[in-house]
Amino acid sequence: MKVGNVSILKRFLSFQKIKPKICIVGGGPAGFYAAQHLAKKLEQSESEIDIYERLPVPFGLVRFGVAPDHPEVKNVINTFSKTAENPCVRFLGNVNLGSDVSLAHLKNAYHIVLLTYGAEQGRKLDIPGENKKNVIEARKIVGWYNGIPWDSNLEIDLSGETAAIFGQGNVAIDVARVLLTPVDQLKKTDITQHALEVISRSKVKTIHLIGRRGPLQAAFTIKELREMLKLENCRTEWQPKDFEGISDCVPKLARPKKRITELMIKSVSEQKNSACDGNTFKPVFHRSPLEILGKTKVEEVIVGINKLEGDDILNKKSLLTKDRETIKCDLAIPSIGYKSIQADKDIPFNFDRGVVKNTNGKIETGVYVSGWLGTGPTGVILTTMSNAFGVADLILHDVQAEKLINENKGGHEEIMELLHKNNVQVVTWKDWQKIDKYEEEEGRKVGKPREKIVSIEKMLQIAAT
Ligand code: FAD
Ligand code: NAP
Repeated sequence: MKVGNVSILKRFLSFQKIKPKICIVGGGPAGFYAAQHLAKKLEQSESEIDIYERLPVPFGLVRFGVAPDHPEVKNVINTFSKTAENPCVRFLGNVNLGSDVSLAHLKNAYHIVLLTYGAEQGRKLDIPGENKKNVIEARKIVGWYNGIPWDSNLEIDLSGETAAIFGQGNVAIDVARVLLTPVDQLKKTDITQHALEVISRSKVKTIHLIGRRGPLQAAFTIKELREMLKLENCRTEWQPKDFEGISDCVPKLARPKKRITELMIKSVSEQKNSACDGNTFKPVFHRSPLEILGKTKVEEVIVGINKLEGDDILNKKSLLTKDRETIKCDLAIPSIGYKSIQADKDIPFNFDRGVVKNTNGKIETGVYVSGWLGTGPTGVILTTMSNAFGVADLILHDVQAEKLINENKGGHEEIMELLHKNNVQVVTWKDWQKIDKYEEEEGRKVGKPREKIVSIEKMLQIAAT
C-alpha cells in the first residue's frame, strides 16, 4: 500500500490541529518497525506513538527467539532503540493487553490501534504420548536458553544420548545446534546461566531431525544447514535413500532451493560410513510421528513412512503408507511452528490458523494488525519489517481517506490513569536502560555480552531504582 503524498498528509493533519494518537501493542520487530515508519512519515505533526509491551523488556523474539550464538542478528536492536528514543515514541513495558488493558480501552483512548503481539504458542502434534515426560516443545527449549521468565524452570533431562526433533524448520535447527555446540563456545554468548549449566552436563550425542516430506521440501535454509555441517565435533549423517531421484530435479529448481539442494547432495556424497566419537546430526525425511512410547518418560517414537503426492515439486503433500518404524530417543522435541492467541475477546480471531482475522493488515476502522499475529508465524525479521512498513503505509492512507483523526483523544494519559488505578508498574524506556545496563554488567563479569535477568520481579525492582 502506497501512502499518497506525505506532504499532503502532513498538511491535512496540521490543518486539523488534532494530535494523532497511535498505540501499538507488542514491542517486537513488527511493533518497532511500524513505529519507526509511522514516526518518520508523521514527522512534525506532533504525533504520539505508544508501544505497549507485556514484558518489562523490549524486542520480542529478537531477545527471546534468536539463538544466543547468532549475536549479529540482534544488531536490529540498535535500530529499535533509535526509534524508542524518537520524541514521538514511548515504550511502555509491563502492560499486558487482555489483563491490564483491553482493546476497548485502547480504542477509546487512541485514534489508531495496531496489534503486533506475535505468536507465542506452539503447535501440537496431536498424537498419543505427546504429554509424556521429556517430550518438550522446541518453543519452550528456546525460551529456556533465551531467558523467557516462565520457561526458566523447564524440566529437561539431557542424561540420555539420543534426541529426536520433529519438524525441519530453522527453529528445529537452532535447537539442534545449541544442544550440540561445545559449551566453551556457548558460554561466550548471552545464553542463560541455568541452560548453560544443564547443557554442560548433557549426554546428548545424536539428534535426529525428522521431516514428514523430502529434502526438496525441507523448511530450513542454507545458512543454518551450513552451520550444522561445519559444527565442531559433529558430523551430519544423511540417509542416502532419502535422496533417490533428487539430483534429477535440481535443474528445475529456482536459485535458493537449487543451492541448498546441491549442498545437501554434496554432503550426502561426501559422507563417510565410519563411526565417529563425536556428536551426530541425522536428518531423516518422509517420516511422520504417530505415537510416543515410554514407561515414565519418552523412550521411542513410532513414525509412519510417507510417500509424496502432487505435481508441484516444492508443494508436494505427504501421504502415510502402511509402513512404520521405531526411533529410540530419550528426549522428543516437537518443532512444528507457532500460533497466536486471542489476547482480548473483542479481537476477531481465526482459531484454526491461529491468526487475527484481517485484510492486508486491517481488522476494522482504526484497528490494524502486523507481524506474525497477522501473517502467521513465518518469515524472518526482514519479512516482518516489510509487513510492518506496509501496514504502517495502509494506516497513513486510511488516516486521510477515512478521516480517522477527527476528535481529540485521551491517549497515553487516559491509559496511564487506568494502569495507575490498577497498580501496574509501567516500565519506561529509561527504566529498560537500567535493566539493560545491569544485564551487560553482570555479563561482563563472566565474559558474556549480557546475563539476562529471568525474573520479572527482579526486572521491576531494577526498573524502580
Ligand atoms: P514477536 O517478536 O513475537 O513480538 C511480539 C511482542 O508482543 C513480544 O515482545 C511479546 O512479549 C509482546 N506481547 C505478547 N502478548 C502481548 C500482550 N498480550 N500485550 C502486550 N504485548 C504482548 N528471524 C531472523 O531474521 N533471524 C533469526 O535468527 C531468527 N531466529 C528466530 C528464532 C526463533 C526461535 C523464532 C521463533 C523466530 C526467529 N526469527 C528469526 C523470526 C523473527 O523472530 C520474527 O520474524 C519476528 O520476531 C516476528 O516479529 P513480531 O513482532 O511479529 O513478533
Ligand atoms: P517452519 O519454518 O514453518 O517449519 C515448521 C516445520 O514443521 C516444517 O518442517 C513442517 O513441515 C513441520 N511440520 C508442521 N506441521 C507438522 C506436523 N503436523 N507433523 C510433522 N511436521 C510438521 O517453522 P519454524 O521452524 O517454527 O520457523 C518459523 C519461522 O521463523 C520460519 O520462517 C523460520 O525461517 C524463521 N526462523 C528463522 C531463523 C533464522 O533465520 N536463523 C531461525 C529460527 C526461525 P512441512 O513443511 O511438511 O509443513
